[in-house]
Amino acid sequence: MRAARFHGQKDIRIDEIDTPTAGPGQVLVDVAWCGICGTDLHEYLEGPIFVPQPGHPHPVTGEEPPVTMGHEFSGVVAELGEGVTDLEAGDHVVIEPYIIREDVDTGPESKTYHLSQDMNFIGLGGHGGGLGEKVAVDRRWVHRISKDVPLDQAALIEPLTVGFHAVERSGVKAGDVALIGGAGPIGLLTAAVLKAQGVTVVMSELSELRRKKAVESGVADHTFDPRETDVVEEVKKLTDGRGADVAFECTSVQVVLDTLMDAVKPRGVIVIVSIWGQRSDFDIHKLVMKEIDLRGTIAYVNNHPETIELVESGKIDLAPFITGKIGLEGLVDEGFDTLIHRNETAVKILVSPSGKGL
Ligand SMILES: [Zn+2]
Repeated sequence: MRAARFHGQKDIRIDEIDTPTAGPGQVLVDVAWCGICGTDLHEYLEGPIFVPQPGHPHPVTGEEPPVTMGHEFSGVVAELGEGVTDLEAGDHVVIEPYIIREDVDTGPESKTYHLSQDMNFIGLGGHGGGLGEKVAVDRRWVHRISKDVPLDQAALIEPLTVGFHAVERSGVKAGDVALIGGAGPIGLLTAAVLKAQGVTVVMSELSELRRKKAVESGVADHTFDPRETDVVEEVKKLTDGRGADVAFECTSVQVVLDTLMDAVKPRGVIVIVSIWGQRSDFDIHKLVMKEIDLRGTIAYVNNHPETIELVESGKIDLAPFITGKIGLEGLVDEGFDTLIHRNETAVKILVSPSGKGL
């Protein structure tokens, strides 16, 4: 079968590799759609980051480059390994793409398995990936979804779950006002979760196209261009002078974090959703004097069932966020190139590894 594999920085190749089979406790998934993520672009441009360094195999997977890429994917169950009895061939599924040590508790009550030592992701650290035609995944990480959810939209459930976890971390409640800095894919999907939970969403974003997408998709109540509008003033106007109840930092840009610090209410919560490649220099005194809670969030932990429910119930429509569909051969020249050089025009580009969906 064909798979897109990371061989090194700026070296992703479409390789012919052996088709995997479902081992004991595993599910063989026929990949339908796989989204391209900002993390994939970082691996391509600056990696290996999550991908193991050559000569340093990942402690759980034992793999090093080349590894198959793709962690945001949906598919159809093709084959069940020994001992898997609660799924059937033909079921539609999405993957929670974790690589976690076997001695870690990944049960339904765990709130910390995503923070465990050596955590990595299918599609980065080994164990195959969604940018291959088929992938064998441990049953634990396979979530069945309704066949009423189109498989292309289902591929966005993984990044949507990142947004769900960020929202959970914020402690926001219905009726609150949230300010999101940045309307890229994760900002938009975080907004979608907030709207579905009855929160008023304000977004600050430089790109006119992205602001338009936020409004047209119905996930933002108000959008502002921070170069033209005093976002802090606007948030105050919308909250009777109080400030936003919660804020989400989705840009890894210092001035955005500074704005959120000013725009949240005293005792407000700021969640850092973006990955910061550099240190931040922010006003700790302001944090103290406003008793701001600054929180991190990474990926998700037991958040897939509730996120899937939001999509199955129709509370979140993922269709507006799919802005392109390509085959495996277009991954670098079309997919990566668009997201690197013209990223304002794209939210999610989906890949059909077999070409069947195109
Ligand atoms: Zn991702």
